[in-house]
Amino acid sequence: MIGTADPIIEKMRAYNGAVDPGRLSRAFEFGRAAHDGQTRASGEPYFTHPVAVANILADMRLDEDSIITALLHDTVEDCDVTLETLQAEFGGDVSQLVDGVTKLSRLAIKSLPSSAQAENFRKLLMAMSEDVRVLLVKLADRTHNMRTLSFIPKPEKRVRIARETMDIYAPLAERIGLTQIQSELEDSAFEILNGDMRQSIITRLDYLTSEAEITIPTISVELQSTIERVGIECSVTGRLKSPYSIWRKMQTKAVTMEQLADIVAFRVLVPNLDDCYRALGELHQNYPTVMGRFKDYISTPKRNGYQSLHTGVLGPQNHRIEVQIRTPDMHNVAENGVAAHWHYKRSNQDYNPPKYKWIQELVGLLDEDAGAEEFFEHTKMDLYHDQVFCFTPRGDLIALPRGATAVDFAYAVHTQVGETCNGVRINGKTRQLATELQNGDQIEILAQSDAKPRAEWEKFVKTGRAKSAIRRFTRAQRVTEFSRIGKALIEKTFREHDRPFRTRSLGQSLSAFGVSRVEEVFALVGEDRLSPLRVLEKLHPDIVIDDDREARDRSRGQTTQSKLKIKGDNAGTAVTIARCCHPLPGEAIVGIFTTGKGITVHKVGCTTLSKFSDAPELWLDVSWEQDSLRTVNGRLNTVLSNEPGSLASLATVISQQGGNISNIHLTDRTPDFFRFELDLEVKDVEHMRAIIAVLQANKYVESVERSDTG
Ligand code: MN
Repeated sequence: MIGTADPIIEKMRAYNGAVDPGRLSRAFEFGRAAHDGQTRASGEPYFTHPVAVANILADMRLDEDSIITALLHDTVEDCDVTLETLQAEFGGDVSQLVDGVTKLSRLAIKSLPSSAQAENFRKLLMAMSEDVRVLLVKLADRTHNMRTLSFIPKPEKRVRIARETMDIYAPLAERIGLTQIQSELEDSAFEILNGDMRQSIITRLDYLTSEAEITIPTISVELQSTIERVGIECSVTGRLKSPYSIWRKMQTKAVTMEQLADIVAFRVLVPNLDDCYRALGELHQNYPTVMGRFKDYISTPKRNGYQSLHTGVLGPQNHRIEVQIRTPDMHNVAENGVAAHWHYKRSNQDYNPPKYKWIQELVGLLDEDAGAEEFFEHTKMDLYHDQVFCFTPRGDLIALPRGATAVDFAYAVHTQVGETCNGVRINGKTRQLATELQNGDQIEILAQSDAKPRAEWEKFVKTGRAKSAIRRFTRAQRVTEFSRIGKALIEKTFREHDRPFRTRSLGQSLSAFGVSRVEEVFALVGEDRLSPLRVLEKLHPDIVIDDDREARDRSRGQTTQSKLKIKGDNAGTAVTIARCCHPLPGEAIVGIFTTGKGITVHKVGCTTLSKFSDAPELWLDVSWEQDSLRTVNGRLNTVLSNEPGSLASLATVISQQGGNISNIHLTDRTPDFFRFELDLEVKDVEHMRAIIAVLQANKYVESVERSDTG
């Protein structure tokens, strides 16, 4: 029943003199042994299926590795054969091809794809078929499975397979130009999916063709003699269109199935390109043309490489007919698409390379006089190499640019999913959110309602959608956080000038600050990009701001005379807190007298003091007065991680400790960190130490220390 490899070898010999019969026979026996004992739904031995697939590919005149792959294509999936064994026995190409076919077969289509999903799925299959032969074997596999579909007992399974064939595999065959395979797949699927309609079309076809039985050969002969009259050698045939293609035309173009043109295509084969146009001219001179039917697919090939001239004429006996004119080479491409191309390495003077990029590349390889093996080796399907296709757990397909990560996937599903994503499982394994996705990956995004996008995601995401969503989120977050601090600073400034601050009056002056919301003014102040004094000035133009004083205030050399008790009789001298070390009440301090400047108070141990070590006469003993109602300013150098929530958290812990932020000055901002000087109103050094302690315990605070340099 199964026989030997001989019929296949004979078939191959007809087009490939270099075929290795020993290798083919070994593959044949290997496959037969692997599938030994297995049966098809038809009850036949399983190995009849791989043999049938190999025959389909031999009819397409494919290379030896493709035929061997066909014989072995189910051994890894259905038997216990490993890829390593195949590689050792038949070489790397065969094992890689079998691997590719196996992967395509394992891509179960979870839910019936919508038409958009089906298109994505076809792209996925193409992208996964790095070598076009994988796709050719897969399509031949599907073709044989459709031929034997009637043996599948469950009707719903037959319908599912037919649907998949119609939605995925037939368009895929069309895409790479396998017209014969496409037409067979469509028609066999049509039979399952809409058998009644197909039967009524066939009945009508039978009636029309029995009527036209004399007509079709007569027309063919007359067309041929018309063209040959001017010395163009040609052959003309009339071919019935398939029931499915007629039905599809009836759907889209309201074709009625009355005219010959609706059911028969006449095909004129001429030796070369020039003859195509000459034959066309001859037809147009002898018969009236039907408007709107002429198409030049020679100068503009279809995207799958198809080339022909199409025209409609009112032909012999006044029948409206459709005529396709092409060369034998074009005909081979029309039937076999990509599978046809390598034949042209022999005598292809008239072969006009199709304007389809990847086929052109293939044809370029042929010019190098390479053998069929090498030709296919370079036939990479780089059509969709800039994309990856991944699945949601429900089986929906998501197309992303190559290099996209789990975060891109999450945002592609929905912005909400992106913003709450917290982790990911890829093919069931927990992975990093930054993981680059691969074709066919199943992605499960782990979301958590209180999770938030992180600013550093922006560095690794690939899609504009994810990037802009993350940026929008972090920007909004930043406004929220800085505005809290900014508002406090504005309120404080107004208080110092005995003016009440009203959000509403600020709301009426927004245009002056170039923003549209009050929060944005707060944020500008909080980010140290706008002085709170400018806000005061804007809302109370009667107040004159002393810029020098502002500068002094900002550098914060404020006079705190009343806080200090100075030994000796220097009362009345101006006393200034040193900007280099910002001593706080409770700390050991020393005063330095400078002419013109008065007394500057330093912390004991401040490095600045070493400058005065030679002038003991300038040193003054000073001490703090006890006045618990007053507060003083201290400055902290702070490094905070730059992420949503960090500034809010900082402001919260400081106020919980009874501290008050009086100023903030950003010195540096990187994607990872804020670095800033933070001026705090505190009671004394103990108070400041307590605040430093809670800040150090805060998860966002990278470092915090007293500022002791000016
Ligand atoms: Mn199979």
